[in-house]
Amino acid sequence: QPLSIPAKKVLLVGGCGFLGLHLIDQFWNLSPRPEIHVFDIRELPKVSPNFYKFNPSQINVHIGDLTSPTDVSEVISRISPEVIVHSASPVHGMGSAIYYKVNVDGTKNLIACAKKLKVPALVYTSSAGVLFNGDDLYNADETHPFPAKSMDAYNLTKQIAEELVLKADSPEFRTTAIRPAGIFGPGDRQMIPALRAMGQKGQHKIQLGNNLNLFDVTYVGNVAYSHVLAAQKILDPKEADKVGGECFLITNDAPIYF
Ligand code: NAD
Repeated sequence: QPLSIPAKKVLLVGGCGFLGLHLIDQFWNLSPRPEIHVFDIRELPKVSPNFYKFNPSQINVHIGDLTSPTDVSEVISRISPEVIVHSASPVHGMGSAIYYKVNVDGTKNLIACAKKLKVPALVYTSSAGVLFNGDDLYNADETHPFPAKSMDAYNLTKQIAEELVLKADSPEFRTTAIRPAGIFGPGDRQMIPALRAMGQKGQHKIQLGNNLNLFDVTYVGNVAYSHVLAAQKILDPKEADKVGGECFLITNDAPIYF
C-alpha cells in the first residue's frame, strides 16, 4: 500500500540540496501526491532519471533566502502548506558566522513566519552531530544529553536550531526533528567526494590515531523516508502527541570504524 500523508501541499525548505532532492522524490511517490513546493537559495539542479523518479517540471521552485522575513513569509502565504520540511543548512566546513546566520537566525525566522501564518506543522532536519564532542559514543539514544562543548559551530548551531524548533511545539504548531548521521547515496556532495579527494591526494597513506574512530552513516533514501513518516505522524491528530516536540536519531544498522 503506497504511503500517504494528510497534506495537499508541502513546502521543502532547502529542497534543492542533496537530501532535498530525495525528499522531493519521496513526497512525489506519495498517493495521493501532494503539491510539492521547494524554497531554496539556488535553482533545482539537473537530476538523473536513474536516481530520481520525480518530474522536475512539476516541482514548484521558489528562490529565496531562509534568513529573509520577506522571502519566507511571501512563499508561505502564497502556498499555505500543511507541513514544512526544513533541511536547509550551509555545508560542513565553513566559517561560524554563516552557520549562526542560516541555522540559528534562519530557523528562528522560519518558525516565526510559519506560526504567524498558521502553518500546522514543521519537520526539521537536525543532525546526530548535535551529540558529538569528538569522543566516541556507544549506543547513545535520544535521551543522551547535549555535550558541554560541541564539536564545532556547525554542530552547535544545529543543536540551537533543533532546540528552537522543538520548543516551538504546541497543539496549533506541531514540530519534530530528525537527526541523521553522515548521509550517503546518489547526489552526495560531501562525504564520498571528500573521501575520493583524500584518496587522490594520497592522504590515505597517513594514519592519525589507532584507526578506530567510530562513525555512523545513513543511506539518503532512509533519511528522506524518515522525514515523510515524521510528516505523516505529526499531521495525524492521534499520533501528533507522540512526535510533537521530540527528536529522532536516524542511522543505518550498525556504526562503522573509519
Ligand atoms: P546540501 O548543502 O546539499 O543542502 C542544503 C540546501 O540548503 C542547499 O540546497 C542550499 O542551497 C540550501 N540553503 C542553504 N542556505 C540557505 C538559505 N539561506 N536559504 C535557503 N536555502 C538555503 O546539504 P545536505 O547534505 O542535503 O543536508 C541537508 C540537511 O541535513 C542539512 O540541514 C544538514 O545539516 C543535515 N545533515 C546532513 C548530513 C550529511 O551528512 N550530509 C548529516 C546530518 C545532517
